[in-house]
Amino acid sequence: MPSSGSTLYIKPEETAGNPLAKLQEALSACIQCGTCTASCRNACLMDHTPRRLWRMVLMGDTESVFHSRTFALCSACYYCTLRCPRGLALTDAMDTLKQMAASRNVAEYRPNARFYGSFMESVRRHGRVNEMEFMQKYFILMKNPLTPIQFTPLGIKLLRKGKISLWPGKSKAEHPLDDLFRRVAELEAEK
Ligand code: SF4
Ligand code: SF4
Repeated sequence: MPSSGSTLYIKPEETAGNPLAKLQEALSACIQCGTCTASCRNACLMDHTPRRLWRMVLMGDTESVFHSRTFALCSACYYCTLRCPRGLALTDAMDTLKQMAASRNVAEYRPNARFYGSFMESVRRHGRVNEMEFMQKYFILMKNPLTPIQFTPLGIKLLRKGKISLWPGKSKAEHPLDDLFRRVAELEAEK
């Protein structure tokens, strides 16, 4: 049965010796069948397939694991988790790697962490994402003048299709989700 447990959470103090120890435990039943890779729509974009990433985790190849783009490209569709014959919590494991890479400020993961951070800050402020504010914040954090240029064709396409607006709708209250965000932070701290 696929695991329905919550994200594997690893506290920084637990990662001092072997940062992958908890993940190795969680993935120890992997039989390297490759079903996760065959199920993953994003595998063709990843530098290592999911199956290979789990092998690297089990082998304790920390350097290669955190320099890989595989977990960053996981879109959390849960398909591999549903199909893994050993019922392993693979999407949670991907999420754990994202959290660890963000907390360790891994260079390859930094753009993703800034992207997610800007997105969530906008959601927190408005109760929904304000695309323009979110992207502006992301561009400022990236400190690279080429980043906005890279996103320009996509932005024009989305504007033309009416998917984003230049003018943000006004939310009724500033920070309407503050309580929710605070509660999640408390729950994370309790883990
Ligand atoms: S589907 Fe499960 S058992 Fe098979 S390789 Fe992937 S993680 Fe391992
Ligand atoms: S949860 Fe991530 S790794 Fe698994 S199939 Fe979906 S995108 Fe691929």
